[in-house]
Amino acid sequence: MNIHEHQAKAVLKSFGAPVADGYAVFSVDEAAEAAAKLPGPLWVVKSQIHAGGRGKGKFKEADAGEKGGVRLAFSPEEVYENVKAMLGKTLVTHQTGPEGKQVNRIYIEDGADIATELYCSLLVNRETGQPAFVVSTEGGMDIEDVAESTPEKILTINIDPTQGVTEADCEELCKALKLEGTAKEDGFKLFPILYKAFTEKDMSMLEINPLIVMEDQHLRVLDAKVSFDGNALFRHPDIMELRDTTEEDEKEIEASEWDLAYISLDGNIGCMVNGAGLAMATMDIIKLYGAEPANFCDVGGGASKEKVAAAFKIIMKDPNVEGILVNIFGGIMKCDVIAEGVIAAVKETNLSVPLVVRLEGTNVEKGKEIIANSGLNVIPADDLDDAAKKITDAVKK
Ligand code: ADP
Ligand code: MG
Repeated sequence: MNIHEHQAKAVLKSFGAPVADGYAVFSVDEAAEAAAKLPGPLWVVKSQIHAGGRGKGKFKEADAGEKGGVRLAFSPEEVYENVKAMLGKTLVTHQTGPEGKQVNRIYIEDGADIATELYCSLLVNRETGQPAFVVSTEGGMDIEDVAESTPEKILTINIDPTQGVTEADCEELCKALKLEGTAKEDGFKLFPILYKAFTEKDMSMLEINPLIVMEDQHLRVLDAKVSFDGNALFRHPDIMELRDTTEEDEKEIEASEWDLAYISLDGNIGCMVNGAGLAMATMDIIKLYGAEPANFCDVGGGASKEKVAAAFKIIMKDPNVEGILVNIFGGIMKCDVIAEGVIAAVKETNLSVPLVVRLEGTNVEKGKEIIANSGLNVIPADDLDDAAKKITDAVKK
């Protein structure tokens, strides 16, 4: 689960990280009041969407102005004008896709005197199985270019989870970021704070870009992007409250209500599978035959007829879906139950795209019989390979 920048900063602040004062506003009316609570002379007006690259983004609407989604203002009036220009408009960044994201809230923040912009993130290093800091002196809005053209300027520092962030780790991090004097002293405080927030709140990623050294040599967290491990959210009701469903894929929200593991993807073949391994294999084989999966969808081990129907309807909501492949191994789940769910959903949704169904396992004969006798236009398949071939052929026509 992702949260907004202003929420991420509040979480980090509660652990003691240095962040600027600021206020999130949801309407133009709140803008002037929020600006008045900050001292100036510089205010920063920041679009809050669950995507990065806002500074360099562009609004779709002409009346939002030419500037990006993060704007400097030198008076409360300018704050007001910028909030008015951006609120409700659609911001397109390199992370939103061409459709962009609507800006429904804006963070008004105290401006900082920036000496240098650094990059600092924390994630789990899959290669070593350890939490790791990823840092660079080349922070700011061009970090993607740095990663591409000069990857040697991005350093990974693994943390031993049995020790936490040690003095030696802090020393190494400060060296990598070229922090000295006051900035180094701040770094020795900040890195353990970030690590504590990351581990205690079960974050899957914490990205601070930029982490700045100010003119007075103190460090400040100037941007914060945080995602949490969805499987650990039950331990953090305070974090769960920060969820903003307007930022999430409608299909994924509906799927979570049905307890379905569903992830939207860019392809044209909708997949309904049980078990994550089989789902991955199904996606792989679709690609092997030259098509692309439109989603990952795991209906789980013991799905009911209703759950299967719900999954089917969610898949059908994606306008890019040109064909559906149902690939179920009936272990705990019975093939006849799946077949009934599929038939019910096909009838309800007036399915207009080709559907290939491959069933195997418990009650497979009964399941196949139900499908064959349904009178619906369903293409049966015998195995995974056959199924993938049939659905990719069907969408080519
Ligand atoms: P994004 O990464 O989505 O573009 P950032 O929050 O990183 O958004 O803001 C983009 C740039 O705007 C930063 O790199 C920094 O130069 C500037 N900026 C952001 N917040 C402030 C602030 N409070 N004071 C001064 N400059 C800021
Ligand atoms: Mg940033």
